[in-house]
Amino acid sequence: MMSRFTDKKAALFDELRADGITDEAVLDALNEIPREDFIPKVLRGQAYENAALPIDSGQTISQPFVVAFMTQVLNVDKSHKVLEVGTGSGYQAVVLAKLCRRLFTIERHLPLFKGAEEMFKKLHIFNITTLFGNGMKGWPEQAPFDRIMVTAASEEIPDKLLAQLREGGIMVIPVGAQGKTQHIIRITRQGDDFVQENLMPVKFVPLLAGIVHDS
Ligand code: SAH
Repeated sequence: MMSRFTDKKAALFDELRADGITDEAVLDALNEIPREDFIPKVLRGQAYENAALPIDSGQTISQPFVVAFMTQVLNVDKSHKVLEVGTGSGYQAVVLAKLCRRLFTIERHLPLFKGAEEMFKKLHIFNITTLFGNGMKGWPEQAPFDRIMVTAASEEIPDKLLAQLREGGIMVIPVGAQGKTQHIIRITRQGDDFVQENLMPVKFVPLLAGIVHDS
């Protein structure tokens, strides 16, 4: 179907493939989900540019390449129970929900949390469960998880999240201080060992403790 975004979308997908996104299920998920619906109206013309964009509460929706990359390296399948920390706009949550069995997602800013819940309803996505809270603590009642994705940068890898990763499970998290280079780290749990791989330099908003009720 032609839309105002058809040409820009095609160019973006060419760029994602050229940059190493080879997982067709990930590309299909990105192709199906209307990114324009997750960003402020005034920025909608930029929905299919390969750029991070501002959302409410001073946060950002990640660049499409970073969403695709983090999703690809998480290696999600339809049997998986997945935790996302940092719901934000809800876009990454919907991408994950298309690929997994159940997606649990936590957000600390109430306006973003409410907006994302509305989006999940509007798009008829029924395998997402939301929590307003501090995702650094994970979601003990729902643990263990096959996969965990953190979409805000942390100076250290939260122990509580590692503890909620199933044997053989994978976690992807941007690690590093604000203002310094952060890296996407992939952690694979092998028994009591957590094998770490440093995958890519990135820039994310910070993972912060506590909850925020307004703006
Ligand atoms: N995945 C989001 C990206 C949003 S940016 C998307 O697709 O739009 C990162 C988000 O993490 C922000 O919304 C921020 O409020 C949230 N965040 C930061 N620290 C958090 C924490 N401790 N618990 C839950 N959410 C957190």
